[in-house]
Amino acid sequence: MSQPTLSNKPQAAVSQQKNELQKQSKPQRAENQQLSERFQHIQFLDCDKPVGHIVFECWHCQQGIISEFTGEPEMGEYKDRPSVVPVKVECPNCGQTAIRLTTGEVLSTTAIPSPWQQ
Ligand SMILES: [Zn+2]
Repeated sequence: MSQPTLSNKPQAAVSQQKNELQKQSKPQRAENQQLSERFQHIQFLDCDKPVGHIVFECWHCQQGIISEFTGEPEMGEYKDRPSVVPVKVECPNCGQTAIRLTTGEVLSTTAIPSPWQQ
């Protein structure tokens, strides 16, 4: 009996199984419908550098803020679809989410006089 020579089979790609976090999302009532009609000042700086800067105003209290950010945004799921996970930046003044950035990591958040309120 002769054994056929098998060529190397390509290894099957390892499939990663993510644990799906099942969060019970409470039905959110409109927190503040006026928010969607407001305009937020944002200015990106140094986007082409490893560490970028963004100057913006807090969504809630209009505090001027400068943040350093770096990295690629993390991919997650939103309503069963692949979607980037925004990083929430906390306002140093009012403590609420000043802005959501689609970036990897926010390195620093510093309150500054808003350049738009002069
Ligand atoms: Zn604020």
